[in-house]
Amino acid sequence: MNFQQSFTEIQSLLTALNHDSDRFVNALRQQHVFHLSFSQISTLEFCQHRYYLQYILNQEPDPLPDYFTKGKLLHQLIAHGYQAQMSGNVPSLEVLEEELFTSELACESVHLTNALQLYYRHRWQVERVLAVEQPFVISLADDLPPLVGVIDLVLQDGDAIILVDHKTGCNFYPYDELQVAIYARYIQSIYPGYDCQLFYDHYRWVNHLERIRKPAFQRTLVELHKDQWQTDLQRITSAAGIIQQIHVGSSPTHSGACFRCPYQHICEFSYRRAN
Ligand code: SF4
Repeated sequence: MNFQQSFTEIQSLLTALNHDSDRFVNALRQQHVFHLSFSQISTLEFCQHRYYLQYILNQEPDPLPDYFTKGKLLHQLIAHGYQAQMSGNVPSLEVLEEELFTSELACESVHLTNALQLYYRHRWQVERVLAVEQPFVISLADDLPPLVGVIDLVLQDGDAIILVDHKTGCNFYPYDELQVAIYARYIQSIYPGYDCQLFYDHYRWVNHLERIRKPAFQRTLVELHKDQWQTDLQRITSAAGIIQQIHVGSSPTHSGACFRCPYQHICEFSYRRAN
């Protein structure tokens, strides 16, 4: 495969779509331009068959887990808050709550209302919001497919560029350094000379903010170790090799933890179906 050509095609797509992340993700899916993403790599590592269902057959889990919709909606609302901030307005919590209640995505609203309050309390107030939901493509090596991603939030504070990724869930899970390592490489390529800082903002779903014993919000600074990049690159290279094989017809293995898999109700290899 000609990866340089794929990279150029994806760059042109980004320009044509004016860097709109939703349209970019949809267009990439439809146009079959070969690429990698952190989500693809982590899905493949979880279970190759899940990769096959999700990225080759383009199947959605059925039923769609509530946490998918909740996470998506919170990302949208937080993005709208920071977009307003980027235009010089302080977004009001009431406006975001109104947006939540009128959303077409139906899901548990108590968790979301609480998460919105946490966002409002802990939102970043630094010099500038540079980008919200920023799609990107980067070429890491000539023999690797281009890597794409969408960075939730890019901020500037003096000489520092701050990247923020929003995480949601019932708990605070350990993060995967590979994701931010990729984001950092992209940001360092477009803002050379700046200090790059990376954070995860975790939102934990809770029913009662006033009754919780452990925090429902956690901001984690991610320390990237220089020596780690070679290991990260090996991980990406290994996943890229398997993904290419699956795309040309190799049978994916199915070694994942089915009880944690959103495809467990429709997958023919799920332990639920086997038993
Ligand atoms: S249900 Fe199990 S075998 Fe099927 S895709 Fe998920 S993890 Fe893989």
